[in-house]
Amino acid sequence: MSKFTALGLDENILKAITDMGFETPSEVQEKAIPILLEKDTDMVALAQTGTGKTAAFGFPMLQKINVGSRTTQGLILSPTRELCLQITNEIKNYGKYYKGLNVVAIYGGASITDQARNIKKGAQIIVATPGRMKDMIGRRMIDISKIEYCVLDEADEMLNMGFYEDITEILSHSPKDKSTWLFSATMPREVSAIAKKFMFEPVEITVGGKNMGAENVSHEYYLVNARDRYQALKRLADANPSIFSVIFCRTKRDTQKVAELLIEDGYSAAALHGDLSQNQRDLVMKSFRNRQIQMLVATDVAARGIDVENITHVINYQLPDEIETYTHRSGRTGRAGKTGISMVIVSKSERRKIHTIEKMIQKKFVAKDVPSGMAICEVQLFHLANKIKETEINHEIDAYLPNINEVLEEFSKEELIKKVFSVEFTRFYNYYKKSKDLNASVGDTSEGGSEDSVRYFINVGEKDDFDWMTLKDFLKEMLQLEKDDLYKVDVKESFSFFNTDTKHQELVMNFFKDFELEGRRVSVEISKDTGRGRRGGRDRGRGGDRDRGGSRGGFKKRSGGRRDDRRSDGGGRDDRRRDDRRGDGEKREGGRSGGRKEGSRDGDNSGFKGRSRRKSDRPNNSGTGGRRRRN
Ligand code: ADP
Ligand code: MG
Repeated sequence: MSKFTALGLDENILKAITDMGFETPSEVQEKAIPILLEKDTDMVALAQTGTGKTAAFGFPMLQKINVGSRTTQGLILSPTRELCLQITNEIKNYGKYYKGLNVVAIYGGASITDQARNIKKGAQIIVATPGRMKDMIGRRMIDISKIEYCVLDEADEMLNMGFYEDITEILSHSPKDKSTWLFSATMPREVSAIAKKFMFEPVEITVGGKNMGAENVSHEYYLVNARDRYQALKRLADANPSIFSVIFCRTKRDTQKVAELLIEDGYSAAALHGDLSQNQRDLVMKSFRNRQIQMLVATDVAARGIDVENITHVINYQLPDEIETYTHRSGRTGRAGKTGISMVIVSKSERRKIHTIEKMIQKKFVAKDVPSGMAICEVQLFHLANKIKETEINHEIDAYLPNINEVLEEFSKEELIKKVFSVEFTRFYNYYKKSKDLNASVGDTSEGGSEDSVRYFINVGEKDDFDWMTLKDFLKEMLQLEKDDLYKVDVKESFSFFNTDTKHQELVMNFFKDFELEGRRVSVEISKDTGRGRRGGRDRGRGGDRDRGGSRGGFKKRSGGRRDDRRSDGGGRDDRRRDDRRGDGEKREGGRSGGRKEGSRDGDNSGFKGRSRRKSDRPNNSGTGGRRRRN
């Protein structure tokens, strides 16, 4: 059986674990579960986001409560409505083989009488936001005088949101001898204080360094002038056609504004923040989980703890005021063993914050250049090529084919390809042809200029299990070049770019003239984009946007056979089967819970406009990466 057996979990939970496809316990699970199962103790567990904390407290709680009884025995407090529902679903799922289990979610903004009715039926476990919970205890709708286990999840955030008093009030109605388990990603002073106040000799568990971000997230920053922030954001999106991302802004207003701009520009984006009605937020989260939205623009509070599968990028449109928040932001990606990228758009005045964050997360940022317009056109074209290649033919069109063929009769295959691609290319090209270099220079510009450097296109990428380091090693070995001879290695889904000095051009081109890798032809061409900017990954500010000529003879490059939207799992690692949490779990709560009720406001200022896209002179993604396939 699975490695979970060793933790002492019972048959019901093990069966659910198998169903969910979890194979090995995460570190926090390995450390917390045996202790919590074995004794009744308080616990403080600190672990990075996305490390499976819900199961770390959920499994033991389920196993320890008595499902035969209808008394409320477990209480889980969490900061937002969204998280509350997420945890409820998760716990229900973990406990699906326990007959008679009743888990009830309690949160603001929904009918209190419905919730009270559900409680009355006998809820062994209640998952609640503090505001509504306090309210219902006050109205004697909930009795927690017999609970044995209390979890404070995302404790730091609950305190941030000013729930200290509510929590104190709630816990004053609970028995003194219960066990309290506190779970948090960070341990600010307030959390230690709460631990002292509410707990007795808690067992402490720390996984990874405190405040360190998830391990499989890489961090990049893009230095721009503050006024170019939005343009930079668009380029980052355009250069990553399969992007599925959360974009963080500092204020609700900026969040709303950026989302609106993106929508106007034809992206599938939406805003998520506390000024939206519950209904709007539900709609947005649902669309995001369904991947109808590619870019969720959110405030920190609104997106806290959100667990959506396969988020490829987190983009910090602005850096947060408190750097600890950065960990939470970047933790939205790189979850459950997947890889992710956290990007920061940074202005000169904020740049030193990057170093502070580096110290905190104990990881280095890579200074990257905002891609040039031509680089984006190129990416989009190859994305389209891949997409065409992978598209399954829809035979519903068969009936129309004779007529379509007639219209296109006069064109050869070559010509047709050129035309199809021109549709896409011209759109991006027209938009980007006059685009400027958005990279702010730091002063230490020019070290050679692009004349000395050649950028290449190579038709291998992430789907061949390359990342920039392994591709660099591979090229280094093949070409017998030194580490510094190869730079600006930039790996995309099914192709990549790299640079060498011009003096190596002949060597590179000759080497790849007839090259095969595992039976597949690997070809290298000179790229139009010079890959301006830093060399060797750190220094920046080379020459301008120059066309390096070197015709690439149409865009007929072949690429490997696999799907193109694998970026999120780093190219073929495990494909855990997981519960599809769509359904009723997409609601959230913004700001304080119980107190503020915001019925459903009319008018749609959620920034979510469903599938319609406005036409604009700007390129939109509909042709290329617009709507991602679910995988
Ligand atoms: P945290 O609360 O630490 O941020 P979650 O409890 O939300 O993390 O878990 C993150 C994701 O990882 C969830 O989708 C969860 O289903 C999944 N997960 C949890 N434990 C495991 C495991 N042992 N193996 C695989 N996936 C897991
Ligand atoms: Mg969590």
